[in-house]
Amino acid sequence: MGTIIQPVCSSCHEPYPRCFIGVGMLDIPKKIKAPYYCDHCGTISFKSLLNKYHRCSQCRKQVTLYGKTHGFMLPDDLDIHYEPEKVVIDVTVAMDLQYVLEDKNYHCPKCKKETLRFEEVGMWD
Ligand SMILES: [Zn+2]
Ligand SMILES: [Zn+2]
Repeated sequence: MGTIIQPVCSSCHEPYPRCFIGVGMLDIPKKIKAPYYCDHCGTISFKSLLNKYHRCSQCRKQVTLYGKTHGFMLPDDLDIHYEPEKVVIDVTVAMDLQYVLEDKNYHCPKCKKETLRFEEVGMWD
């Protein structure tokens, strides 16, 4: 079961790639991908959530995760009671790790405005 999401910027309408988020029957958690952006290149890419740091495949600068991960057993997570109001994606990555993408405006790396949203465009299983 998973969700297909599409990043949409209402300012520049950059054609960003879609992403499948979720776990299929045969998938291992490593395969769960989340959207990251590179402000330097103006691109969005989808990378494994379980790696803590990622670099842009083009410029090698560090990319930034959209949404957030939270868990009960992470010692560095001070936000245990994090409860987003509206959620587009909420998946369990591991036993104690949850990934949440909210229904709100995010940063668009192309036009640098806070006008990017993630839309659910379908389901897959
Ligand atoms: Zn934009
Ligand atoms: Zn880059």
